[in-house]
Amino acid sequence: MRVAVISDIHANLHALEAVLPEIEAAAPEAVWCLGDVVGYGPRPNECCAIVEERADVCLVGNHDLVCLGRIGLEEFNHEAAAAAAWTRKQLDEPSRSFLDSLSPSAGVEQAQLFHASARDPVWDYVLTDEAALATLLLTTAPLVLVGHSHVALAVELRDEGLLSGGLAPDGSERELDGARRLMNPGSVGQPRDGDPRAAWLLLDFERRFASFRRVAYPIERTQNEIRDAGLPEALAARLDHGQ
Ligand code: ZN
Repeated sequence: MRVAVISDIHANLHALEAVLPEIEAAAPEAVWCLGDVVGYGPRPNECCAIVEERADVCLVGNHDLVCLGRIGLEEFNHEAAAAAAWTRKQLDEPSRSFLDSLSPSAGVEQAQLFHASARDPVWDYVLTDEAALATLLLTTAPLVLVGHSHVALAVELRDEGLLSGGLAPDGSERELDGARRLMNPGSVGQPRDGDPRAAWLLLDFERRFASFRRVAYPIERTQNEIRDAGLPEALAARLDHGQ
């Protein structure tokens, strides 16, 4: 079975539309989305409709929850809160009921999925060995997938309890050899690992590999939509740098 994993789309329709043909070309049997379909970006309803239609499993993220009004705006920094307040007004009923039906974690046959981490599926960032180890120790599946940090990662737990691995830039390949692994596909719509291209992850459970992919997209189109919507300028500017 092949699976495409996407995460943290953040209402960036042009990034999502660049990733989808690459996914179709890989012809996976399933698509898993690790959450934060909306928030920050200018096209929330289109992204919800596409993900609802295309994803076989979808989690809810902290930004989805604040846009639904299930988390308060005061939990977020100024720009994220401003974008969430804007998104609350934009979300149509189908998007709202789709996001409202989702959970921040899920178990499937091949993996355990969390928007953030096993310690806290909504808020905890896995960006350190300590956080990665905590999630691997709280789970049992060979493969654990997380989103939330917007940083593509591949970490392996060795028998001695030692971790290896780290950032997973474009073209990184990992063998799925039975060692326990934690992976983050990176972010489709707002990468923060220095590569501004949209990120996604292809898993092949038969041939036993994971392949980290990046796709260029017309960043300026999303930036123009962010400005036209009156969203904070910093949310447009950061897309240039992948930060
Ligand atoms: Zn996010």
